[in-house]
Amino acid sequence: MRLVLLGPPGAGKGTQSARLVAKYAIPQLSTGDMLRAAVEARTPIGLEAKEIMDRGALVPDAVVVGIIGQRIKEKDAANGFILDGFPRTVAQAQALDDLLIREGLKLDAVIELSVDENALLARMQNRVDETRARGGDVRADDNPQAFKTRLDAYRTQTAPVSHYYAGKGELKQVDGMAPVDAVSVAIEEALTR
Ligand code: ADP
Repeated sequence: MRLVLLGPPGAGKGTQSARLVAKYAIPQLSTGDMLRAAVEARTPIGLEAKEIMDRGALVPDAVVVGIIGQRIKEKDAANGFILDGFPRTVAQAQALDDLLIREGLKLDAVIELSVDENALLARMQNRVDETRARGGDVRADDNPQAFKTRLDAYRTQTAPVSHYYAGKGELKQVDGMAPVDAVSVAIEEALTR
């Protein structure tokens, strides 16, 4: 199973990915997680990405395409993967098509979690409060200003990715405003339709 999960920050991609990982025994490939690990490890990519991510802007296409190009060739991704947070621009979607063609692979589905924008800021604030309550580290970009930049990036750069897949007849939309379990059920339905 090779899936792309699309949706704005706070749409629940991470939550739903975790469930799909357990169900299908395939890895979740989150470019956000991989970039945060690179920042943490102070690799050259991490050093380049840190300031961009902290602002809430997108790191260059070539950087994330390079990361994903390597990652999908690893052994644990041989039976499939869930792409979470990638592709985030039409150029990335086209690069992904090229990568898949080169590997002789095909996407099984592109699922978009649609969420009312007014709900997203509150979801982010909730995540911050919950993280603080359990004594965890709050993400540097989970603050109102960076979040606004992330939403702007989503609107201008990532929303066209949905149109890209819709144009190819590959997009399936799921209501991300429903309760978590209902969203999971809707994703399962979308995968079989
Ligand atoms: P969220 O979905 O909550 O916005 P992510 O963890 O997916 O967060 O991404 C965090 C940040 O990492 C983004 O704001 C961006 O700076 C960077 N990033 C992640 N994936 C990509 C990507 N595919 N292209 C460019 N930048 C990315």
